[in-house]
Amino acid sequence: MKLPIYMDYHATTPVDPRVVEVMLPYFTEKFGNPASRQHQFGWIAAEAVETSRAAIAKYLGVEAREIIFTSGATESNNLALKGIAEAWHQKGSHIITVSTEHKSVLDPCRRLEKSGFQVTYLPVDEYGTIDLNRLSDSITSKTLLVSIMTGNNEIGTIQDLPSIGKLCRDKGVFFHTDATQAVGKIPVDIFDTNIDLMSFSGHKMYGPKGIGVLFVRNSKPKIKLTMQMDGGGHERGIRSGTLNVPAIVGSAKALELSILSMNEEANRLRYLRHKMYDAFTNSLEDVFLNGHPTNRLPNNLNISFIHVEDNALMMSLKDIAVSTGSACSTADPEPSHVLKALGVSNDRLHSAIRFGLGRFTTEAEVEYTIDRVIENVNKLRNISRPFRRSSNKVMQN
Ligand code: PMP
Repeated sequence: MKLPIYMDYHATTPVDPRVVEVMLPYFTEKFGNPASRQHQFGWIAAEAVETSRAAIAKYLGVEAREIIFTSGATESNNLALKGIAEAWHQKGSHIITVSTEHKSVLDPCRRLEKSGFQVTYLPVDEYGTIDLNRLSDSITSKTLLVSIMTGNNEIGTIQDLPSIGKLCRDKGVFFHTDATQAVGKIPVDIFDTNIDLMSFSGHKMYGPKGIGVLFVRNSKPKIKLTMQMDGGGHERGIRSGTLNVPAIVGSAKALELSILSMNEEANRLRYLRHKMYDAFTNSLEDVFLNGHPTNRLPNNLNISFIHVEDNALMMSLKDIAVSTGSACSTADPEPSHVLKALGVSNDRLHSAIRFGLGRFTTEAEVEYTIDRVIENVNKLRNISRPFRRSSNKVMQN
Protein backbone atom coordinates (compact mmCIF):
# COMPACT_ATOMS: atom_id res chain seq x y z
CA MET A 1 0.00 0.00 0.00
CA LYS A 2 1.29 3.43 -1.00
CA LEU A 3 0.89 6.61 1.02
CA PRO A 4 -0.74 9.12 0.84
CA ILE A 5 -4.16 7.58 0.39
CA TYR A 6 -6.70 9.38 -1.77
CA MET A 7 -10.19 9.27 -0.28
CA ASP A 8 -11.73 12.35 -1.83
CA TYR A 9 -13.28 10.92 -5.00
CA HIS A 10 -16.18 13.40 -4.89
CA ALA A 11 -13.77 16.26 -5.45
CA THR A 12 -12.17 14.65 -8.46
CA THR A 13 -10.94 11.29 -9.70
CA PRO A 14 -7.66 10.23 -11.26
CA VAL A 15 -7.90 9.69 -15.01
CA ASP A 16 -8.09 5.97 -15.71
CA PRO A 17 -4.96 4.90 -17.68
CA ARG A 18 -7.26 3.35 -20.32
CA VAL A 19 -8.80 6.80 -20.78
CA VAL A 20 -5.39 8.47 -21.07
CA GLU A 21 -4.42 5.96 -23.74
CA VAL A 22 -7.32 6.80 -26.06
CA MET A 23 -6.81 10.54 -25.53
CA LEU A 24 -3.10 10.71 -26.36
CA PRO A 25 -3.25 10.66 -30.21
CA TYR A 26 -5.61 13.65 -30.12
CA PHE A 27 -2.90 15.85 -28.60
CA THR A 28 -0.32 15.05 -31.24
CA GLU A 29 -0.97 13.51 -34.66
CA LYS A 30 -4.78 13.96 -34.59
CA PHE A 31 -4.73 17.53 -33.29
CA GLY A 32 -7.09 19.12 -35.87
CA ASN A 33 -9.91 21.51 -35.10
CA PRO A 34 -13.22 19.71 -35.68
CA ALA A 35 -14.62 22.97 -37.08
CA SER A 36 -12.03 22.96 -39.92
CA ARG A 37 -14.15 21.57 -42.73
CA GLN A 38 -11.60 22.03 -45.52
CA HIS A 39 -9.02 19.36 -44.74
CA GLN A 40 -8.54 15.95 -43.28
CA PHE A 41 -7.03 17.17 -39.99
CA GLY A 42 -10.41 18.73 -39.24
CA TRP A 43 -12.38 15.76 -40.58
CA ILE A 44 -10.48 13.31 -38.37
CA ALA A 45 -11.10 15.44 -35.30
CA ALA A 46 -14.77 15.95 -36.20
CA GLU A 47 -15.21 12.23 -36.65
CA ALA A 48 -13.70 11.55 -33.22
CA VAL A 49 -16.08 14.07 -31.66
CA GLU A 50 -19.14 12.61 -33.37
CA THR A 51 -18.16 9.02 -32.54
CA SER A 52 -17.71 10.05 -28.90
CA ARG A 53 -21.00 11.94 -28.88
CA ALA A 54 -22.79 8.89 -30.27
CA ALA A 55 -21.16 6.63 -27.67
CA ILE A 56 -22.11 8.92 -24.78
CA ALA A 57 -25.67 9.15 -26.13
CA LYS A 58 -25.88 5.37 -26.43
CA TYR A 59 -24.78 4.85 -22.83
CA LEU A 60 -27.36 7.38 -21.65
CA GLY A 61 -30.10 6.00 -23.92
CA VAL A 62 -30.59 9.30 -25.77
CA GLU A 63 -29.91 10.73 -29.23
CA ALA A 64 -26.47 11.97 -30.23
CA ARG A 65 -27.77 15.46 -31.05
CA GLU A 66 -29.05 15.77 -27.49
CA ILE A 67 -25.45 15.79 -26.16
CA ILE A 68 -23.77 19.21 -25.88
CA PHE A 69 -20.13 19.47 -24.81
CA THR A 70 -19.12 22.18 -22.33
CA SER A 71 -16.11 22.88 -20.11
CA GLY A 72 -17.51 21.09 -17.05
CA ALA A 73 -20.59 20.61 -14.91
CA THR A 74 -20.37 24.21 -13.67
CA GLU A 75 -20.81 25.46 -17.22
CA SER A 76 -23.49 22.84 -17.98
CA ASN A 77 -25.49 23.97 -14.95
CA ASN A 78 -25.08 27.65 -15.86
CA LEU A 79 -26.10 26.98 -19.45
CA ALA A 80 -29.13 24.91 -18.43
CA LEU A 81 -30.47 27.45 -15.93
CA LYS A 82 -29.63 30.72 -17.65
CA GLY A 83 -30.22 29.30 -21.13
CA ILE A 84 -33.75 28.16 -20.22
CA ALA A 85 -34.50 31.35 -18.31
CA GLU A 86 -33.50 33.53 -21.24
CA ALA A 87 -35.19 31.46 -23.92
CA TRP A 88 -38.46 30.84 -22.09
CA HIS A 89 -38.99 33.84 -19.81
CA GLN A 90 -42.34 34.49 -21.46
CA LYS A 91 -43.53 31.04 -20.37
CA GLY A 92 -42.73 31.67 -16.72
CA SER A 93 -40.50 33.52 -14.31
CA HIS A 94 -40.35 31.05 -11.44
CA ILE A 95 -37.65 28.43 -10.80
CA ILE A 96 -37.62 25.77 -8.08
CA THR A 97 -34.43 24.29 -6.72
CA VAL A 98 -33.16 22.87 -3.41
CA SER A 99 -31.10 24.44 -0.63
CA THR A 100 -28.54 21.59 -0.81
CA GLU A 101 -27.67 22.02 -4.48
CA HIS A 102 -24.11 22.62 -5.65
CA LYS A 103 -23.05 26.28 -5.85
CA SER A 104 -22.99 26.01 -9.64
CA VAL A 105 -26.79 25.72 -9.47
CA LEU A 106 -27.43 28.02 -6.50
CA ASP A 107 -25.30 30.90 -7.78
CA PRO A 108 -26.91 31.04 -11.25
CA CYS A 109 -30.28 31.00 -9.45
CA ARG A 110 -29.19 33.97 -7.33
CA ARG A 111 -28.12 35.80 -10.47
CA LEU A 112 -31.45 35.06 -12.13
CA GLU A 113 -33.23 36.46 -9.08
CA LYS A 114 -31.39 39.73 -9.73
CA SER A 115 -32.78 39.81 -13.25
CA GLY A 116 -36.38 39.39 -12.12
CA PHE A 117 -36.82 35.65 -11.69
CA GLN A 118 -38.41 34.29 -8.57
CA VAL A 119 -36.62 31.27 -7.09
CA THR A 120 -37.95 28.84 -4.49
CA TYR A 121 -35.22 27.04 -2.52
CA LEU A 122 -36.90 23.90 -1.18
CA PRO A 123 -35.80 22.73 2.28
CA VAL A 124 -34.73 19.13 2.97
CA ASP A 125 -35.34 16.77 5.88
CA GLU A 126 -32.60 15.58 8.26
CA TYR A 127 -31.41 13.08 5.62
CA GLY A 128 -31.22 15.64 2.82
CA THR A 129 -34.35 14.47 1.01
CA ILE A 130 -36.97 16.83 -0.42
CA ASP A 131 -40.68 16.49 0.32
CA LEU A 132 -42.51 15.69 -2.92
CA ASN A 133 -45.77 17.24 -1.68
CA ARG A 134 -43.92 20.43 -0.93
CA LEU A 135 -42.41 20.40 -4.42
CA SER A 136 -45.85 19.83 -5.91
CA ASP A 137 -47.36 22.67 -3.86
CA SER A 138 -44.53 25.01 -4.92
CA ILE A 139 -45.24 24.59 -8.64
CA THR A 140 -47.44 27.44 -9.87
CA SER A 141 -48.64 28.60 -13.28
CA LYS A 142 -45.50 30.76 -13.42
CA THR A 143 -43.06 27.89 -12.79
CA LEU A 144 -40.70 27.34 -15.71
CA LEU A 145 -38.06 24.96 -14.39
CA VAL A 146 -37.31 22.59 -11.53
CA SER A 147 -33.60 21.91 -10.91
CA ILE A 148 -32.83 19.12 -8.44
CA MET A 149 -29.56 17.20 -8.25
CA THR A 150 -29.48 13.42 -8.56
CA GLY A 151 -26.99 12.59 -5.78
CA ASN A 152 -25.49 15.06 -3.36
CA ASN A 153 -21.74 15.70 -3.52
CA GLU A 154 -21.34 16.12 0.25
CA ILE A 155 -23.75 13.75 1.94
CA GLY A 156 -24.50 11.39 -0.96
CA THR A 157 -28.29 11.57 -0.60
CA ILE A 158 -30.11 10.43 -3.74
CA GLN A 159 -33.41 12.16 -4.51
CA ASP A 160 -36.46 10.33 -5.84
CA LEU A 161 -35.84 11.41 -9.43
CA PRO A 162 -38.54 9.30 -11.12
CA SER A 163 -41.26 10.87 -8.93
CA ILE A 164 -39.83 14.37 -9.38
CA GLY A 165 -39.63 13.89 -13.17
CA LYS A 166 -43.19 12.59 -13.36
CA LEU A 167 -44.48 15.50 -11.30
CA CYS A 168 -42.71 18.02 -13.54
CA ARG A 169 -43.96 16.35 -16.71
CA ASP A 170 -47.55 16.18 -15.40
CA LYS A 171 -47.43 19.86 -14.48
CA GLY A 172 -45.74 20.94 -17.72
CA VAL A 173 -42.52 22.34 -16.22
CA PHE A 174 -38.99 21.61 -17.38
CA PHE A 175 -36.83 19.35 -15.22
CA HIS A 176 -33.05 19.75 -14.96
CA THR A 177 -30.85 17.51 -12.83
CA ASP A 178 -27.22 17.96 -11.89
CA ALA A 179 -26.08 14.34 -12.12
CA THR A 180 -22.36 15.08 -11.74
CA GLN A 181 -21.88 12.71 -8.79
CA ALA A 182 -24.27 10.08 -10.10
CA VAL A 183 -23.51 9.37 -13.76
CA GLY A 184 -21.56 6.11 -14.04
CA LYS A 185 -22.11 5.37 -10.34
CA ILE A 186 -25.84 4.65 -10.14
CA PRO A 187 -28.37 4.00 -12.90
CA VAL A 188 -29.89 7.20 -14.29
CA ASP A 189 -32.66 6.60 -16.82
CA ILE A 190 -33.23 9.86 -18.66
CA PHE A 191 -36.23 8.55 -20.58
CA ASP A 192 -38.16 6.92 -17.70
CA THR A 193 -37.29 9.77 -15.36
CA ASN A 194 -38.58 12.45 -17.75
CA ILE A 195 -35.36 14.43 -17.49
CA ASP A 196 -35.26 17.40 -19.88
CA LEU A 197 -31.74 18.63 -19.08
CA MET A 198 -28.89 16.83 -17.31
CA SER A 199 -25.40 18.04 -16.40
CA PHE A 200 -22.31 15.99 -15.66
CA SER A 201 -18.55 16.20 -15.81
CA GLY A 202 -15.60 14.15 -17.10
CA HIS A 203 -13.39 14.45 -14.05
CA LYS A 204 -15.83 12.84 -11.60
CA MET A 205 -15.90 9.61 -13.60
CA TYR A 206 -12.18 8.93 -14.20
CA GLY A 207 -12.05 11.19 -17.24
CA PRO A 208 -10.17 14.47 -17.68
CA LYS A 209 -10.93 17.85 -16.13
CA GLY A 210 -12.26 20.72 -18.23
CA ILE A 211 -14.95 18.74 -20.05
CA GLY A 212 -18.64 18.58 -19.25
CA VAL A 213 -21.82 17.38 -20.87
CA LEU A 214 -25.27 18.87 -20.98
CA PHE A 215 -28.05 16.61 -22.17
CA VAL A 216 -30.72 18.78 -23.82
CA ARG A 217 -33.94 16.99 -24.78
CA ASN A 218 -34.70 17.38 -28.45
CA SER A 219 -38.28 16.13 -28.61
CA LYS A 220 -41.36 15.85 -26.42
CA PRO A 221 -40.64 18.56 -25.47
CA LYS A 222 -37.93 20.12 -27.62
CA ILE A 223 -35.87 22.31 -25.31
CA LYS A 224 -34.57 25.54 -26.77
CA LEU A 225 -31.70 27.17 -24.89
CA THR A 226 -30.19 30.62 -25.36
CA MET A 227 -26.45 30.40 -25.91
CA GLN A 228 -24.49 31.82 -22.98
CA MET A 229 -21.10 31.85 -24.72
CA ASP A 230 -21.38 33.94 -27.87
CA GLY A 231 -19.10 33.04 -30.75
CA GLY A 232 -18.83 30.65 -33.65
CA GLY A 233 -22.12 28.88 -33.02
CA HIS A 234 -20.63 25.46 -32.30
CA GLU A 235 -22.70 22.67 -30.77
CA ARG A 236 -25.81 23.47 -32.79
CA GLY A 237 -25.68 27.07 -31.75
CA ILE A 238 -25.96 26.20 -28.06
CA ARG A 239 -22.33 26.51 -26.98
CA SER A 240 -19.64 28.33 -28.93
CA GLY A 241 -15.96 27.53 -28.63
CA THR A 242 -13.47 25.12 -30.19
CA LEU A 243 -14.17 21.65 -28.90
CA ASN A 244 -11.75 19.97 -26.52
CA VAL A 245 -11.27 16.89 -28.68
CA PRO A 246 -8.93 14.82 -26.44
CA ALA A 247 -11.21 15.41 -23.44
CA ILE A 248 -14.32 14.53 -25.44
CA VAL A 249 -12.74 11.27 -26.61
CA GLY A 250 -11.62 10.61 -23.02
CA SER A 251 -15.08 11.29 -21.61
CA ALA A 252 -16.70 8.78 -23.93
CA LYS A 253 -14.18 6.13 -22.85
CA ALA A 254 -14.57 7.11 -19.19
CA LEU A 255 -18.35 6.80 -19.36
CA GLU A 256 -18.10 3.45 -21.14
CA LEU A 257 -15.76 2.06 -18.46
CA SER A 258 -17.92 3.40 -15.63
CA ILE A 259 -21.18 2.08 -17.03
CA LEU A 260 -19.76 -1.35 -17.85
CA SER A 261 -18.44 -1.85 -14.30
CA MET A 262 -21.14 0.13 -12.49
CA ASN A 263 -23.02 -2.57 -10.59
CA GLU A 264 -19.96 -4.55 -9.58
CA GLU A 265 -18.11 -1.39 -8.55
CA ALA A 266 -21.10 -0.07 -6.59
CA ASN A 267 -21.28 -3.32 -4.61
CA ARG A 268 -17.53 -3.26 -3.93
CA LEU A 269 -17.66 0.33 -2.70
CA ARG A 270 -20.75 -0.32 -0.56
CA TYR A 271 -18.90 -3.20 1.08
CA LEU A 272 -15.84 -1.03 1.80
CA ARG A 273 -17.96 1.85 3.04
CA HIS A 274 -19.87 -0.46 5.40
CA LYS A 275 -16.64 -1.82 6.70
CA MET A 276 -15.58 1.74 7.60
CA TYR A 277 -18.92 2.70 9.07
CA ASP A 278 -19.18 -0.49 11.15
CA ALA A 279 -15.63 -0.09 12.44
CA PHE A 280 -16.26 3.54 13.46
CA THR A 281 -19.56 2.81 15.18
CA ASN A 282 -18.23 -0.30 16.92
CA SER A 283 -15.09 1.38 18.24
CA LEU A 284 -16.22 4.94 18.89
CA GLU A 285 -19.11 6.59 20.62
CA ASP A 286 -20.90 9.68 19.34
CA VAL A 287 -20.51 8.93 15.68
CA PHE A 288 -23.29 10.21 13.40
CA LEU A 289 -23.97 9.42 9.78
CA ASN A 290 -24.84 12.47 7.69
CA GLY A 291 -27.12 11.94 4.73
CA HIS A 292 -29.61 9.22 3.99
CA PRO A 293 -29.02 5.78 5.56
CA THR A 294 -30.01 3.85 2.41
CA ASN A 295 -30.68 6.22 -0.50
CA ARG A 296 -27.10 7.36 -0.91
CA LEU A 297 -24.33 7.22 -3.47
CA PRO A 298 -22.40 3.96 -2.99
CA ASN A 299 -19.04 5.72 -2.60
CA ASN A 300 -20.07 8.34 -0.06
CA LEU A 301 -19.58 8.21 3.69
CA ASN A 302 -20.09 11.45 5.59
CA ILE A 303 -19.59 11.11 9.31
CA SER A 304 -19.63 13.48 12.25
CA PHE A 305 -17.25 12.52 15.04
CA ILE A 306 -18.79 14.57 17.81
CA HIS A 307 -16.41 16.52 20.09
CA VAL A 308 -13.71 16.50 17.44
CA GLU A 309 -13.30 19.57 15.29
CA ASP A 310 -13.41 18.56 11.60
CA ASN A 311 -10.27 20.45 10.59
CA ALA A 312 -8.31 19.11 13.55
CA LEU A 313 -9.20 15.54 12.59
CA MET A 314 -8.45 16.14 8.93
CA MET A 315 -5.04 17.62 9.76
CA SER A 316 -4.26 14.70 12.05
CA LEU A 317 -4.89 12.28 9.16
CA LYS A 318 -1.73 13.48 7.50
CA ASP A 319 -1.40 10.79 4.86
CA ILE A 320 -5.12 10.39 4.05
CA ALA A 321 -6.88 12.86 1.76
CA VAL A 322 -10.45 13.46 2.94
CA SER A 323 -12.51 16.61 3.13
CA THR A 324 -14.45 18.48 5.78
CA GLY A 325 -17.82 20.12 5.85
CA SER A 326 -16.29 23.54 6.43
CA ALA A 327 -14.85 26.03 4.02
CA CYS A 328 -11.44 25.59 5.62
CA SER A 329 -9.81 28.11 3.30
CA THR A 330 -11.40 31.03 5.15
CA ALA A 331 -10.17 32.40 8.46
CA ASP A 332 -13.63 31.91 9.93
CA PRO A 333 -14.73 28.53 8.58
CA GLU A 334 -18.40 28.50 7.61
CA PRO A 335 -20.08 25.12 7.99
CA SER A 336 -21.26 23.66 4.71
CA HIS A 337 -24.61 24.92 3.43
CA VAL A 338 -25.60 21.29 2.87
CA LEU A 339 -25.05 20.17 6.45
CA LYS A 340 -26.71 23.35 7.71
CA ALA A 341 -29.77 22.58 5.58
CA LEU A 342 -30.16 19.22 7.39
CA GLY A 343 -30.81 21.16 10.59
CA VAL A 344 -28.34 19.07 12.60
CA SER A 345 -26.72 20.24 15.84
CA ASN A 346 -23.73 22.56 15.87
CA ASP A 347 -21.56 19.70 17.13
CA ARG A 348 -22.42 17.66 14.09
CA LEU A 349 -21.92 20.58 11.75
CA HIS A 350 -18.38 21.18 12.92
CA SER A 351 -17.19 17.59 13.15
CA ALA A 352 -18.15 16.19 9.73
CA ILE A 353 -15.67 14.37 7.54
CA ARG A 354 -16.45 13.23 4.01
CA PHE A 355 -14.84 10.00 2.86
CA GLY A 356 -15.11 9.56 -0.90
CA LEU A 357 -14.23 6.07 -2.11
CA GLY A 358 -13.50 5.16 -5.70
CA ARG A 359 -12.16 2.83 -8.36
CA PHE A 360 -8.63 2.67 -6.99
CA THR A 361 -9.56 2.42 -3.29
CA THR A 362 -8.31 -0.86 -1.85
CA GLU A 363 -9.36 -2.79 1.23
CA ALA A 364 -5.89 -2.26 2.70
CA GLU A 365 -6.36 1.52 2.33
CA VAL A 366 -9.74 1.30 4.02
CA GLU A 367 -8.25 -0.70 6.91
CA TYR A 368 -5.41 1.78 7.33
CA THR A 369 -7.89 4.67 7.28
CA ILE A 370 -10.10 2.98 9.88
CA ASP A 371 -7.14 2.54 12.24
CA ARG A 372 -5.86 6.11 11.78
CA VAL A 373 -9.31 7.67 12.23
CA ILE A 374 -10.10 5.71 15.39
CA GLU A 375 -6.66 6.44 16.83
CA ASN A 376 -6.88 10.17 16.09
CA VAL A 377 -10.49 10.62 17.18
CA ASN A 378 -9.59 9.04 20.52
CA LYS A 379 -6.48 11.21 20.83
CA LEU A 380 -8.33 14.42 20.02
CA ARG A 381 -11.24 13.54 22.30
CA ASN A 382 -8.84 12.88 25.16
CA ILE A 383 -7.44 16.34 24.70
CA SER A 384 -10.89 17.94 24.65
CA ARG A 385 -12.49 15.67 27.33
CA PRO A 386 -15.60 14.19 25.77
CA PHE A 387 -19.18 13.84 26.86
CA ARG A 388 -20.62 10.43 26.08
CA ARG A 389 -23.61 9.85 23.83
CA SER A 390 -24.72 6.98 21.64
CA SER A 391 -24.27 6.81 17.90
CA ASN A 392 -27.03 6.45 15.29
CA LYS A 393 -26.44 2.94 14.00
CA VAL A 394 -28.79 2.97 11.06
CA MET A 395 -26.91 2.68 7.81
CA GLN A 396 -28.04 -0.34 5.80
CA ASN A 397 -26.94 0.48 2.29
N1 PMP B 1 -22.16 19.69 -9.45
C1 PMP B 1 -21.76 18.82 -8.52
C2 PMP B 1 -22.78 18.02 -7.78
C3 PMP B 1 -20.41 18.67 -8.25
O1 PMP B 1 -20.00 17.80 -7.32
C4 PMP B 1 -19.47 19.46 -8.96
C5 PMP B 1 -17.98 19.36 -8.68
N2 PMP B 1 -17.66 19.53 -7.34
C6 PMP B 1 -19.94 20.34 -9.93
C7 PMP B 1 -21.29 20.44 -10.16
C8 PMP B 1 -19.00 21.18 -10.74
O2 PMP B 1 -18.34 20.37 -11.67
P1 PMP B 1 -17.08 20.89 -12.52
O3 PMP B 1 -15.92 20.77 -11.62
O4 PMP B 1 -17.02 19.93 -13.68
O5 PMP B 1 -17.36 22.27 -12.96
